[in-house]
Amino acid sequence: MSKKPYFTDCPRCGSNSFEHMSEYCHCPNCLYVEDYYEDAETCYAAVRLLDGERLRQNTQQDEAESLAS
Ligand SMILES: [Zn+2]
Repeated sequence: MSKKPYFTDCPRCGSNSFEHMSEYCHCPNCLYVEDYYEDAETCYAAVRLLDGERLRQNTQQDEAESLAS
């Protein structure tokens, strides 16, 4: 599944040369680059969100079990 590269307006220089590749975007005009990899900060936030979700589910499960017994 590879997407064809396509061009949009560059968020930095505004020229229509911002190339979207499958793993990153770049502008050859001003050398602006955006990659799709998550940095450590967004990974951490995503993990915290997942943990929170799991904790909430566990808590609900515990409550259901204590009500049942
Ligand atoms: Zn640019």
